[in-house]
Amino acid sequence: MRLSPTTIDYDGPIVVIGFGSIGKGALPLILRHIRTPRRRMVVIDPDDSARRLAELEGVRFEKVALNPENYREVLAPIAKGGFLVNLSVDVSSAALIRLCREIGTLYLDTCIEPWAGGYLDKSKPLAARTNYALREEVRAISREGPTAVVAHGANPGTVSHLYKRALVRLAADLGHTVAPHTRAEWAHLARELGVKGIHIAERDTQWADIPKQPDEFVNTWSIEGFVAEGLQPAELGWGSHERQVPPEATFHEHGCRAAIFLTRPGATTRVRSWTPRAGPIQGYLITHNESISIADYLSIEENGETLYRPTVHYAYHPCDDAILSLHELQGRNLRRQSKFRLMNDEIVDGMDELGVLLYGHSRNAFWYGSQLTIHQARALAPYQNATGLQVTSAVVAGMIWAIENPRRGVVDADELDHDRILSIQEPYLGRLVGAYTDWTPMDNRDGDLFPEDVDRDDPWQFRNVIMR
Ligand code: NAD
Repeated sequence: MRLSPTTIDYDGPIVVIGFGSIGKGALPLILRHIRTPRRRMVVIDPDDSARRLAELEGVRFEKVALNPENYREVLAPIAKGGFLVNLSVDVSSAALIRLCREIGTLYLDTCIEPWAGGYLDKSKPLAARTNYALREEVRAISREGPTAVVAHGANPGTVSHLYKRALVRLAADLGHTVAPHTRAEWAHLARELGVKGIHIAERDTQWADIPKQPDEFVNTWSIEGFVAEGLQPAELGWGSHERQVPPEATFHEHGCRAAIFLTRPGATTRVRSWTPRAGPIQGYLITHNESISIADYLSIEENGETLYRPTVHYAYHPCDDAILSLHELQGRNLRRQSKFRLMNDEIVDGMDELGVLLYGHSRNAFWYGSQLTIHQARALAPYQNATGLQVTSAVVAGMIWAIENPRRGVVDADELDHDRILSIQEPYLGRLVGAYTDWTPMDNRDGDLFPEDVDRDDPWQFRNVIMR
């Protein structure tokens, strides 16, 4: 496999907040692709167990826990006029973006984070603890000023570039030659092709030779991050083809209104989906920024009426040990396990298959995405598994795009140039695969022993996708 030749000169400074699974993996890629003086780079994390990895690269490490009281004082002097990369948990994206506007600093994160406790603050109404609310807060900051790329990892992030590639491929296969550029052109293309919805369909098969222990949560990326988002309400972009609103759905009163949330956590909400290697899967409808941003980006509105919008949500089948961990978590009525283990060196085999399933059109469904094995990931970059590399390569590609486009204000992944991003990221994604399927969520349900309340006229209604 050929490594991406893309490199760029940048004077810095570059400040990376968070040196966990994504931060540790991102640092060597940043150094590989962005030529910057190392003495102007700083990594910040309250946990200094990996300090040596930064210092070996000639990068300064500061052991600090950022909080609402100290973040300005810590960051303003070292990040002024440079790039702030937020790869932490529990450090507010909105607060950092506001600071970056004041000090003329570029910004990127892979998830819109609140301050510690924000996801679970029971004093707030449920709607205020959704990703919808976090995204609305950040998008209200400004569409002008230094570029702030929000939620640009693999998903959210890369999947927003993959669905554009998939739309163009689907159009070509249906006999159209298209070259959409604007948001309206993408939305009209999705509508003309008859795309009813998009699953972010992921099957992680990485496995390790250390089995999961009782009272332990095991995963291939942040357990803290995964559990926190799993305990948020399940959220999805709500499509215009849907005929029945789920009984536990709530609509938002303010903002883009592209999404709804369910009054149940994603960690207990299962959906039917499909990926090429795994075939039919049962995934978790975990809330994610892309479910909202993609649905919003592809909406066609006229005089306050929604003429078109795809249903968009995550269907996540994490690695088998994470499934066992979720099962245990559910048994404990969602009280966290006392031990967390992020799988890395102990992984023996497996791949992360992550892509977009565009469904409901005349060819039924088309999946397009990355199949990256642990062995490919290890050959391409240090300190990360396949899941991590799909994310860290998006971090670097997003940073390069921001350096090339420094005055674009707050932008979602959907607003970046997908060809440019994928040209940088593609060498790290393993095989990029496009596959049609005749699978639908109604497969094998004719002879149900327990007939469900289903919509037999349209297999692609969300009512058929969610597992009751
Ligand atoms: P991790 O738990 O491995 O690491 C997070 C790091 O943040 C830890 O080292 C922790 O010590 C540090 N941290 C905690 N509190 C802090 C504070 N107050 N100040 C500074 N640092 C602090 O998590 P990860 O897997 O590296 O994930 C990091 C972020 O990336 C999370 O927001 C996660 O949701 C996101 N993520 C996004 C994607 C994607 O595809 N978009 C994928 C994986 C992770």
